[in-house]
Amino acid sequence: MFSKVLIANRGEIALRVLRACKELGIKTVAVHSTADQDAMHVRLADESVCIGPPPSRDSYLNIHQIVAACEITGADAVHPGYGFLSENAKFADILDAHGITFIGPTADHIRLMGDKITAKKTAVSLGIPCVPGSDGEVHDVDQAISIAKETGYPVLIKATAGGGGKGMKVAHNDEELSEALSTARSEALANFGNDAVYMEKYLGRPRHIEVQVLGDGEGNAVHLGERDCSLQRRHQKVWEEANSPSLNEDQRMEIGEICAEAMRKLKYRGAGTIEFLYENGGFYFIEMNTRLQVEHTITEAITGIDLVNEQIRIASGAGLSVSQDDIRFQGHAIECRINAEDPNTFVPSPGTITHYHPPGGLGVRVDSGVYQGYRIPPFYDSLIGKLIVHGRTRVECMMRLRRALDEFVVDGIKTTIPLFRDLLANPDIANGDYDIHWLEKFLAAKS
Ligand code: ADP
Repeated sequence: MFSKVLIANRGEIALRVLRACKELGIKTVAVHSTADQDAMHVRLADESVCIGPPPSRDSYLNIHQIVAACEITGADAVHPGYGFLSENAKFADILDAHGITFIGPTADHIRLMGDKITAKKTAVSLGIPCVPGSDGEVHDVDQAISIAKETGYPVLIKATAGGGGKGMKVAHNDEELSEALSTARSEALANFGNDAVYMEKYLGRPRHIEVQVLGDGEGNAVHLGERDCSLQRRHQKVWEEANSPSLNEDQRMEIGEICAEAMRKLKYRGAGTIEFLYENGGFYFIEMNTRLQVEHTITEAITGIDLVNEQIRIASGAGLSVSQDDIRFQGHAIECRINAEDPNTFVPSPGTITHYHPPGGLGVRVDSGVYQGYRIPPFYDSLIGKLIVHGRTRVECMMRLRRALDEFVVDGIKTTIPLFRDLLANPDIANGDYDIHWLEKFLAAKS
């Protein structure tokens, strides 16, 4: 096992990783920007190293500083959390060259899934169902039109280097298609420095369902069921639940097994998430994230398995602690992402938290790096905490969530807590009857 892990992240996820290390008896190193010297994970870590000024590119994305911090402190492994360097293959390569373990998949697997066309081709070859569309890059309008004839309109043009929903354009006919192709290309070039695009049938009312997997890198892999992350605003997840209200046990085990088998064939190492759009009983692969996700907590709630602990075990060579038969899905869990934002306009609301009281009690977990008197810096994303609630049934989970939200006090800044109270009062949410467009429509109707 590792003796010292450096946590190359900040906020709630840095604290989350620190907790897993402590339980394993591993020493921790926090790295932080000058804006984060008062952060909770910095206070709780065994050692800390300031790696630069507030902008992420000078600190949390500064590979040289992070490698230097490993060398100074003698850390033998790095956990990247999510975001920042977590899907940066070059970072994984550089750590490897320095004899430091990257707690994550191989650099090759990160690269494979980081390019969407390659990812989709790989998914097809591994037996994962995909959205019908172009077989690779689309070069010109004529090619695009002939593909659209096969799939039918509407179609979606997507950037192969895309992320965060950028570089995507919908087209409903041949004319729009030619327009969509050129705008998607120029947006892709401007945002990602790569103008390669591909094409998919546009699904009208899908849900976002993703499968959690764990592999040991030797050909053993398991799935930990799915998460439903359909409630999104501007492609950002807001509320996630496990299991999905729209799948039954047979569907869950079927798609889960397809994903686990794909990971066995790939000899995938570490935690990963295979994301699908789900419509009319069909699953359509959109991408694979080769890292821990924000919403991993709801999978932990229903399986009782600590995913960060598994990541560390796997990276150390100790393998998986569970086999597929050991994994049971119990009850229902919901995660609400609490952002420091105005709940109506979503304008960021950094500042000092004057009063803080997180909820507690049976089935309630709060993952957050904030505390009373903490000053939220304006430089980073606005996620300040996650409220995760577990119940024996979905109904019990929702009642518990309502009570937990009522207990939650965060004064001094605005947060998205009131949004979740509104969602809980909505019959569609109560019935689990929503798709990926539901939240945007709900917010538009409210304003
Ligand atoms: P990104 O990496 O930019 O987030 P994704 O491929 O994950 O790109 O797609 C982002 C979002 O765009 C999805 O969550 C979904 O809302 C929508 N989307 C992607 N592909 C399709 C499709 N074929 N049909 C309908 N919506 C899609």
